[in-house]
Amino acid sequence: MQPLLQLNNIYYTFHSMQGETEALSNVSFEVKKNEFLAIVGPSGCGKSTLLSVISNLIKPDEGKIIFNGNNIGYMFQKDNLFEWRTIYNNILLGLEINKLKTEENLLYVDNLLKKYGLYEFKDAKPSELSGGMRQRAALIRTLALKPDLLLLDEPFSALDYQTRLNVSNDISGIIKREKKTAILVTHNLSEAISLSDRVIVLSKRPGKVKKIIDINFDLGDKRNVFNSRNSPEFKDYFNTIWKELNY
Ligand code: ADP
Ligand code: MG
Repeated sequence: MQPLLQLNNIYYTFHSMQGETEALSNVSFEVKKNEFLAIVGPSGCGKSTLLSVISNLIKPDEGKIIFNGNNIGYMFQKDNLFEWRTIYNNILLGLEINKLKTEENLLYVDNLLKKYGLYEFKDAKPSELSGGMRQRAALIRTLALKPDLLLLDEPFSALDYQTRLNVSNDISGIIKREKKTAILVTHNLSEAISLSDRVIVLSKRPGKVKKIIDINFDLGDKRNVFNSRNSPEFKDYFNTIWKELNY
């Protein structure tokens, strides 16, 4: 089967008053359908730039991107929920803007709300929800548009450690159940390993692919953030990626 996304020899340099900043250098990789891919790399190495290139927000100076899908959804560190709208009206915002408030799509949203425990909170204001529930609402807003690919840019960074584990488990569980393909950018190695099927390690700026590591835990259906972290293989993956990042 052809990959959902293919990046071939991508280069990108920012030009500003301060000068030139080479952000990406010869980046190539592919993403398979239904895969959960994590990208790790030092702060400032070009991770967000890479997502901007994938989403077509910026055009690469060189190289080619082949996306065999229709639309892309995003999730960021900030959930960007509007306080003056209810949770339900926040979730419908994307459908509204894109004039896609069809009966079918509204039904799909209701199903997601029910399946993921937000239906009772649909008339609440964002500030009435916990950080984790807000991220879940932000994910449902993204899923409402039925994206083929989800781009997650450090979505859990604003959460404290404990909440972060729970929310990352929750969000990745929903992404799997909904059979979505995702690229997660994070500088947290444990998060990358515990959530993904594959980790791409980027070098320091300009970002280059240093290594691609397949992640396999012998857990089958029992795989989740907690069981992955407690698996014997976890430490080896951590050490491999740690070395890649530091040498
Ligand atoms: P990361 O997400 O890995 O932390 P970014 O992709 O945001 O890194 O940035 C990569 C490099 O490009 C950094 O050195 C950053 O300062 C620089 N950069 C990012 N955006 C711009 C911009 N709009 N103009 C100039 N330089 C930028
Ligand atoms: Mg970034």
